[in-house]
Amino acid sequence: MRKTENLGWLGGVYLATKEAKLLLDPVTAKMDEDACILISHAHADHTIGFTSRNIKYSTIETKRVFEELRGIRVKGFHPIRIGESVQLGDLKVKALNSGHILGSTQFLIETPEKTILYTGDINCVDTLTTEAADPVKCDTLIIEGTYGDPAYRFPSRETVYNKIVKWAVKAVKKGRTPILHVYATGKAQEVVKLFNEYTILPVVVDSRVALVNKVFNEHKNDESRLRYLKFEGFDEPNVHVEVTAKPYGSVSRSNVVVGRATGWALTDRVSDGCFPLSSHADFYQLLAFIEASSPKEVYVFTGFTDSFAKYIKRMVKVEAKPIPIVTQRRLLDFK
Ligand SMILES: [Zn+2]
Repeated sequence: MRKTENLGWLGGVYLATKEAKLLLDPVTAKMDEDACILISHAHADHTIGFTSRNIKYSTIETKRVFEELRGIRVKGFHPIRIGESVQLGDLKVKALNSGHILGSTQFLIETPEKTILYTGDINCVDTLTTEAADPVKCDTLIIEGTYGDPAYRFPSRETVYNKIVKWAVKAVKKGRTPILHVYATGKAQEVVKLFNEYTILPVVVDSRVALVNKVFNEHKNDESRLRYLKFEGFDEPNVHVEVTAKPYGSVSRSNVVVGRATGWALTDRVSDGCFPLSSHADFYQLLAFIEASSPKEVYVFTGFTDSFAKYIKRMVKVEAKPIPIVTQRRLLDFK
């Protein structure tokens, strides 16, 4: 039978059918001009598509975070809400919560032949600022493998939250200022919320974190909003905790205690003050997600692509491999 759909990696996850071409989270500026672009979330390695001339879809939150951080306005944009679908030629695309950061989505794509779930970056547990991603039944699952290695089993959220709060309070009791280094988008909002909920410490953030916090608060009701103060031009209160996206080790003030929150803490072998708080699913959560989606085939698109695909085959007993590269030859064959 003649192949009528083409799925693979072409500077992003690429899907072409008789009537539509999609490019999901492109990572290079050179992209198929006819493709419609889907952007799953606002992290910089997923948002280059916003700078293209193509038609693009994402949640409003994703676009707003990108615009605030980059200081530009996105053109050719169509909003899609979580739970909503759009028809693009012979493809029906539905945005689903991915649990990763504010406004992050998976995309469920119904083609004439099958159902494809593209996870983007996913988190499978509830946090103070996001709800866990739910698996969805599909034929083809395209999943991230950022922590797709057995070394990554994250402690419970409560355990990590508890350690971060204790660390900050201990520093304050010693008359020092705790400074926590995190990504500006996602983790920063989570730890600001953590300090808001479980301490009475004023939270001071840098300008980059403040930009994302502003968008976060635009999309939340009163009780979910973050309470924080901006660092620049501000007289710091004597006792406070700082949340910053500046590089770890860049703070040279005295009388501070620095820490950071990252999933890599599990294997980085760093000293105190490094907390395994991640916005991604760990290895075991990824496997559970795959099992619950009961796909016929799995493609891994980032992280431990090769080795994770082998683990999936062995442990979930489903066909799995790194997402294949779409060659120009195959594209021509298809046309
Ligand atoms: Zn991400």
